[in-house]
Amino acid sequence: MIEITNKNIKLFKFVLILICLVYSLVIRFDIATVGAITKYQVFFIYLALLFILFFFVGDLYYFIKKREAIHRSEKSFLIGGWLFLIISFFIAVTNLNFLEPLYYLYLSLIFAFLNIYWAFFYYANLLIYQYISLVYVNWERNYTQFLSFFILSVLFSSVGYLLRKERTEKREYKNKLLDIKEGAKRVFGEEEDTILALKSEKREESLQQTYKLFEERLLNILERVKDFLAPYTVCFVKIKEDGKYYRVVDAISDNDYLRYNEDISLEEGVIGWIAKYGKDLNLKDYRGSKTSLNYYDRYVPIKSFLGIPVFLNEKVFGVLFIDALEGDIFTKETENILRISASQIEDALQNTRLLQQINQQSKEFKALYDASKNMLTFVKLEETIGGFLELLRPFIKYDYAIMTLKDEEGVQKIKVQKGLDDGIIDKTVSDNTLACWTIKHKTMLDIKDYGEKKRKVPLLSDDIKIKYVNRLIIMPIIIENEEQEGTLILCFREEGPTEYEKNLLEILTNQLTISIAKALYVEKINMMATTDGLTGVYNHRHFQERFSELLERGKRYDEIFSLILLDIDFFKKVNDTYGHPVGDLVLKKVSQKIKSSTRKIDIVARYGGEEFAIILPNNSKDSAYKFAERLRKEISDMTVVFESGKLNVTVSMGIAEFPVDGTEKKDLLEKADKCLYEAKKQGRNRVIVTGRDI
Ligand code: GH3
Ligand code: MG
Ligand code: MG
Repeated sequence: MIEITNKNIKLFKFVLILICLVYSLVIRFDIATVGAITKYQVFFIYLALLFILFFFVGDLYYFIKKREAIHRSEKSFLIGGWLFLIISFFIAVTNLNFLEPLYYLYLSLIFAFLNIYWAFFYYANLLIYQYISLVYVNWERNYTQFLSFFILSVLFSSVGYLLRKERTEKREYKNKLLDIKEGAKRVFGEEEDTILALKSEKREESLQQTYKLFEERLLNILERVKDFLAPYTVCFVKIKEDGKYYRVVDAISDNDYLRYNEDISLEEGVIGWIAKYGKDLNLKDYRGSKTSLNYYDRYVPIKSFLGIPVFLNEKVFGVLFIDALEGDIFTKETENILRISASQIEDALQNTRLLQQINQQSKEFKALYDASKNMLTFVKLEETIGGFLELLRPFIKYDYAIMTLKDEEGVQKIKVQKGLDDGIIDKTVSDNTLACWTIKHKTMLDIKDYGEKKRKVPLLSDDIKIKYVNRLIIMPIIIENEEQEGTLILCFREEGPTEYEKNLLEILTNQLTISIAKALYVEKINMMATTDGLTGVYNHRHFQERFSELLERGKRYDEIFSLILLDIDFFKKVNDTYGHPVGDLVLKKVSQKIKSSTRKIDIVARYGGEEFAIILPNNSKDSAYKFAERLRKEISDMTVVFESGKLNVTVSMGIAEFPVDGTEKKDLLEKADKCLYEAKKQGRNRVIVTGRDI
């Protein structure tokens, strides 16, 4: 394709555009005088169109491909010229004079979008062109038509100019923001994995703020260079991450045409050279061109140039340079001073990084500290594990999370989940799963591309499927003293955490282990305070508390319940015949039988030596009687086997109902006890209910 940077082609194209424009005037002239286009003109029109098309396509291709690299004024030159030519030619060939208002649109556009000098250039051209076509070509010396064109053209150009102002202000603001972002990324980007845990916009914000501090410091340094060395321009430019462009970060210049807020090509020019070789460049009697000094928007007769690269992590981060209109004025001493300034910029960059690290780390410590502190406030186990998954979120943005733990029977079960269905709660974790493997080997599992792998080993069980997971992290939770173990499973639909975040996860999981141990310990203490050591059912004191609660509840909500007192028959005999330990065994077996026959909401307690109390909420004495009868039979059918033999026991029970038999503890206990006494009297191994058989 045709390179528009080639000077000859550019010149040729310029001449061609000019010829075409003049030719379009000729066509207009012919149409005005002859009334139609002559035959041989058609041939030239085609020829001109062919040329136009050829170069137009070439330019278009170049524009699309190298958009950023084309100098702005060059872009303006080409766009302005092409549009001018196309409109003029089109109007001339078609002779559609009513399309002339297209020129007003054209003027508004060029004044709004193009380089202002080119806009004026084409405006002047258009005026000449229109003067010729309206005044000369028409022979009628139509000054009024030209005058009206002139007035309207001024109007539309002004509208375009106003638009431009608003646009540039907005663009400058946007560019500045982009610059800061880019700069921050360039300064802090590389350590992403090691220092940055708190992702999210907040982090970016803090990065940008810190980077702004660097820019302030930079301006200070530039001011001093300007004061001290008095160059024409002192400027610091930043090499973009892609290595193809640079941007002016800050400058102090006597020239107004520095290209702020623009991506400037590194392919040619002095800055590109320094960026490429990382060396100082002192040009003493220089005859620079627009392309070699491409930080200016136009040709500036610079004769001296001195540039020093500024490094960050052994790579060229930017270039500090000065230039002057006089030749050979930057001495060795100037070089030394500028070098010192460059190293000051390097220091400022390093300091910015350090400051950012410290900021970030202190924020992370604070977040970790807060999370740990919050975890200490959890007391119950459920609260601890549920709360943990919430606390984890700011550190590691998981999509789903699951925690499994052993239940009372030692079966590994799903305890809490986030982001999935609550239906999986309490489901059993099968053997030979990833979760079990983690516990068994006490090793963390980190599986990348999880979803793509053919899963031979299921995660939790065959029937629990978690879809769309890309990364899976399974942490074992082992609490040795309490014999508890489980897993923390985090699923990520995308890439998942960085190494650093994984470290954080480990710290927090350790904290979790401690919290679970604490919760289990509290549970144990609680249990010891409320249950009977021998039988494992509630003790007398706790029974009294629960009994009071139920009474209150019953009175407030009109709820009924039944109280059963149970006493083992001839227990003394068991003790006397087989010894105390066998008596204890019998007590255990009986209590287990009671426990397994009752529901979770029923209250079972050891009321005295071999006496038990049972409360059945929402049960009338009739249904309590049925229950008690069944229990009585089950106990009498039960054989207690011990080392030297086996035995059978029977029990007697008395039942009272709230509120019909009494609304106070004392009354209900007395009535139930009376029934029990009656059961003993009637021969034992039986159940007596108040108001019946007494
Ligand atoms: P009854 O059918 O009338 O209830 O006859 P009994 O022999 O069961 O009489 P009683 O209820 O008075 O007997 C209570 C006995 O239970 C007294 C005591 O030796 C025994 N005992 C109380 N607590 C324990 C205990 O913790 N372990 C053992 N092995 N025996 C206990
Ligand atoms: Mg007894
Ligand atoms: Mg007794």
